[in-house]
Order: sequence, then C-alpha cells, then structure tokens
Amino acid sequence: MFMIVFIFLLGTIMGSFYYVVGTRLPNHESLIKPRSHCTYCQHILKWYELIPIFSYLVLRGKCKNCHKKISKEYILYELLTGILFCVSYVKFGFQYEFFVSIILSSLVVLIFITDFKYMIILDSPLVIGGIFLFGLRIIYFGFENAILNLLWGFLTFLVMLFIGYIGTILFKREALGGGDIKFSFLLGMALGFKYAIMALLFSTFLALPYAVASMLLNKDKEVPFGPFLVSSAFIVYFFLDKFKFILNLF
Ligand SMILES: [Zn+2]
Repeated sequence: MFMIVFIFLLGTIMGSFYYVVGTRLPNHESLIKPRSHCTYCQHILKWYELIPIFSYLVLRGKCKNCHKKISKEYILYELLTGILFCVSYVKFGFQYEFFVSIILSSLVVLIFITDFKYMIILDSPLVIGGIFLFGLRIIYFGFENAILNLLWGFLTFLVMLFIGYIGTILFKREALGGGDIKFSFLLGMALGFKYAIMALLFSTFLALPYAVASMLLNKDKEVPFGPFLVSSAFIVYFFLDKFKFILNLF
C-alpha cells in the first residue's frame, strides 16, 4: 500500500513537470526561467504552492495573491499521470513492463498536452523515451535483443511513413503529422511489430468518434491524431493478454 501511494505521488510530481514542459517548450520558453508563476499577476509561487494536487485543493484553485482561477488542466494532468503510474505498478509490479508502461504513460500525458493545445508532438520526449526503452531492453534482455528491438521500431516507423505517404496522395494534404510518424518508432520498440500494427488499427477506432464529432461541429478544424495513437499504445500494452487473444483468432 505504501508503494502504491508513493508511485501515485511520484506520478503527480512528474505530471506537474510534464505540464510545464508541454506548455513552455512549444512556445520556446525556458524550463527554468521564469520560475512557476501566476499567469495573471506574475506572483512567483512558493514551494508550498507548488505541491501537486495538494496546493490546488488548499488554495481552492485560486492564486493566493490575486485570487484569479488557476487552470484546471494542472490538476487534471497531475491526476492523470498519478493514476497511470499507479495502475502500471498494480498491474505489472516492479518489472520491465512497469518501466515501459510508465514511459508510455508519460508520453500519453505530454502528447495530450502539446497535440491538443498546439498540434505538435515535441521531439525531446520522444528521444528521451527512446533512449530509456533501449536502455531497459539492454538491462533486461541484453544488447542483441535491444538491437533487434530497434529494428521493430524502424519497421513500424517505415509502415507509418508509407501510410502517411499514401494518405497525402489520397487527401492531397499532409495526412499524418511528422510527430505521429516519429512516435511510431517508439511504438514499435515498446510493443514489438505485431502489436504496434494492432495499436495503429486500434487508434483509428479511438479517433473516429472524435473526428466525426469535430467535423460536424467545426468543419475546418484539424484533428490531432497523436493523442489517440499514444492512448492506443498504452491500452494495447496494458491489455496485451486480451489483444493477444484477438490476434490468435486470425
Ligand atoms: Zn495571481
């Protein structure tokens, strides 16, 4: 029980950090300066105003200085990261799968923030995530296996590149963002080729209702695909046994 609470808190702290990364880097702002502040009155937050979830609840969602409302996104993404880390631990325990699962969780949160807000997927989290996945593979399965795993990533990347290329010809505009295609490299590394393809298929099912709704409500608005792709990666990895069952039907 202690471990679960600890992992949850760790998740909320990471979530808080991801929110800063996801809202500052796309605007080419530094991660360190200026220090966390109220966006209305520039009041610099003290340490006790920076504790994930806790501070938000104590301050009742308002800035201590000017009493303007703090964005609910903060607490939402902190909670989401905490919960994803937590379920990963409960499901996998301290094993290889847990670490892969929290890397995927982190990318879920970061891609949700940047792709919904700014229609981009940052490169740096993908590079760092890829290095972590590669390192984990070496630690748990050895160097040769890690190289083979890179090949799965590359193959998935090629498939995605091809789909993007065909899509661009069919729709006469960029069908898949560069970030989605880059992310598919990690998708192949994390899930292996077969399940990566499955996650690709599954992501289109996840995206469909949103895409239809968004087309009906607002015709010109582009729909980000990244959040659905990365959620699908997490879901397929988390329920791999269930998806294995589906795969065996064919
Ligand atoms: Zn303020």
